[in-house]
Amino acid sequence: MSIRLALLGPPGVGKGTYSSILSKELRIPHLSTGELLRREISMKTELGREVESYVSRGLLVPDKIVNDIVAKRLCASDCANGFILDGYPRTLPQAVFLEEHFPLDKVVLLQASLETIIERICGRLYCPNCGETYHVSWKPPKRDNICDKCGAKLTRRTDDSPEVIKRRYEEYLATVSPVVDFYKKLGKLVPFRAEGDSQILAYSLLRELSSSRTEILVEK
Ligand code: AMP
Repeated sequence: MSIRLALLGPPGVGKGTYSSILSKELRIPHLSTGELLRREISMKTELGREVESYVSRGLLVPDKIVNDIVAKRLCASDCANGFILDGYPRTLPQAVFLEEHFPLDKVVLLQASLETIIERICGRLYCPNCGETYHVSWKPPKRDNICDKCGAKLTRRTDDSPEVIKRRYEEYLATVSPVVDFYKKLGKLVPFRAEGDSQILAYSLLRELSSSRTEILVEK
């Protein structure tokens, strides 16, 4: 059985939480392009330095760079039975590239108001060592500012400042419409209202996806 999913939605809508729950329940890997890029940055590779100049300003990394990183990752053996993409595709050229090389079964569009998004992003904490994410209200670490998983000191993402959030949100709105239309025309789009507790809503989404299981579970 194979399931290939992507989650679309504005920054801070909860894509990471939904993806990790779906990943656990469907037993397929969760691939976040933001995370892949941040890892590249923290390894201080040449590519990492190039990527950082975009990420730190809240700008999209050029399609060619992201497509290459994603394609390389999707060729790994753990993706043979499917995957969940989080934060990709974000532009039409990325969607076209993906459809050509790794066609998706369903694309979930997570929707929430700007107020909800700002509230979520402002409380977000990130572990620079293992990548685990927290939220001061909804998912606080057991010890203040310390990662439950690896004990490293938590930090805020440099691109989570109010000015950068606004830029990222505007960039999202400007680029997402053609991607949404593209998947709508292919009959793959699943719009989902993501206002509320992501931990609970993720299971509603799972049920919704399972109700069209014969469509998304493709014998390959
Ligand atoms: P995220 O963790 O998904 O919010 O992504 C953080 C940052 O990584 C974004 O603001 C972009 O700078 C970059 N990024 C992540 N995914 C993509 C993508 N699909 N295309 C271009 N840039 C991306």
